[in-house]
Amino acid sequence: MSDCIFCKIAAGEIPSKKAYEDETVMAFYDLEPQAPVHVLVIPKAHMQSAASVTPENSAVVAHIFEVIARLAQELGLKEGFRVVTNSGVSAGQSVPHLHFHLLGGRDFTWPPG
Ligand code: AMP
Repeated sequence: MSDCIFCKIAAGEIPSKKAYEDETVMAFYDLEPQAPVHVLVIPKAHMQSAASVTPENSAVVAHIFEVIARLAQELGLKEGFRVVTNSGVSAGQSVPHLHFHLLGGRDFTWPPG
């Protein structure tokens, strides 16, 4: 999508601090970190949110979770980590391109706010 900020990051048109990249997935550090480690993991192909996942496109979501497990290990999140995806405005989604927040390096409370 031409006006999507995360599509532009995936295409290298907007700079980011990259944590991982392959043909279908990219991970980069959040601009406003909510934890000592805060990485966003996205499919390069545009998908609006978790509500857009279908049998036809879900393979990339499985791959994203492989990347998350690898990043959590590489980034030293031995004590645990949290993965969050906000889907829709009332859930707090501010960027309409599917993304998973990988958060770690501190304790988290439950339920989230
Ligand atoms: P959400 O509110 O769940 O849609 O998450 C969007 C996240 O994207 C927020 O945590 C923002 O801080 C982050 N963000 C927005 N623009 C950028 C950017 N250019 N580079 C890195 N992170 C960004």
